[in-house]
Amino acid sequence: MDASWITGHTQLTGLLGSPVAHSLSPRMHNTAYRLLGLDYVYLCFDVTESTLTEAVRGLKACGIRGFNLTMPNKNRMLELLDECTPAARLTGAVNTVVQENGKLIGYNTDGTGFLRSLQEAGTEIYGKRTMLLGAGGAASSIAVQSALDGASELIIFLRTGSRFFERTKQLADVLNRDTSCTVQLCDIEDISCLREQVGKSDVLINATPVGMEPETDRCLIRDPAWLPPGLTVADIIYHPQKTKLLKFAEKAGCRICPGLGMLLHQGAEAFRIWTGQEMPLEQIRDILWQHG
Ligand code: NAP
Repeated sequence: MDASWITGHTQLTGLLGSPVAHSLSPRMHNTAYRLLGLDYVYLCFDVTESTLTEAVRGLKACGIRGFNLTMPNKNRMLELLDECTPAARLTGAVNTVVQENGKLIGYNTDGTGFLRSLQEAGTEIYGKRTMLLGAGGAASSIAVQSALDGASELIIFLRTGSRFFERTKQLADVLNRDTSCTVQLCDIEDISCLREQVGKSDVLINATPVGMEPETDRCLIRDPAWLPPGLTVADIIYHPQKTKLLKFAEKAGCRICPGLGMLLHQGAEAFRIWTGQEMPLEQIRDILWQHG
């Protein structure tokens, strides 16, 4: 592979996580850098929780421009930062870091990326009664940004024995206190509650892995008849590109929002933070849809 364009001035960006070899992010960012003629490169680093501190210290000393974090490093990164945004602080997780004048500044672009993809699908979160399935890393980013951006109500469905239960209860208290959004928690295994709430909501978001490859025949919504046609249905899973939930939603006449849109827009925001430029979205979208 030709790497002769890399010079002494090339700025380093990358991804810190484990595993990372399967990631689409190098393809997304390196293609965008080349299309815009930017002297940047994006690499993957297999970094676990036990090597994160050392890796961040070394990359910072080497002058890295910025990096993304994925599992298992999004939460641990918070304590290694000099500054972070309110959304990252509230979520307790960071997926993008930029180095400015020797300081590491953390962002969470998952929530904003998701809301941009929802907007692109034709739905604004402002004033919407929103149901969120799941309470993990991605769900909490979406919950925080939805509340900050004016969702009227947020009903978070999770398992009562969830490892995220206490954290989600605390997050709901903070969002109820500090934003105009009313947040409540419900048991995701209570089928009649799930069905009743779907019928009363404007937006439904699946932020669990249910329906992801290889178990593509799974869906937390049992029947397309539960879905009113005015509902917008989003699934953040992108393997497969169209989940069983989204197929149900299409059948019910709902507007749909597939997970590759969130992947694209969270990356585009990181790109803007590092380079100050807009990612060429349409070309990168084509690449993600071919390879995603
Ligand atoms: P995570 O932190 O592990 O959270 C997963 C959540 O789903 C937890 O609340 C978990 O509940 C719940 N869950 C799992 N299996 C369930 C089941 N059978 N029934 C009900 N709830 C269940 O994972 P994550 O990082 O948030 O990722 C979630 C999904 O989003 C993954 O498929 C990931 O690939 C995708 N994702 C997509 C993007 C994108 O850009 N499109 C970005 C990030 C993540 P318990 O605590 O009870 O297990």
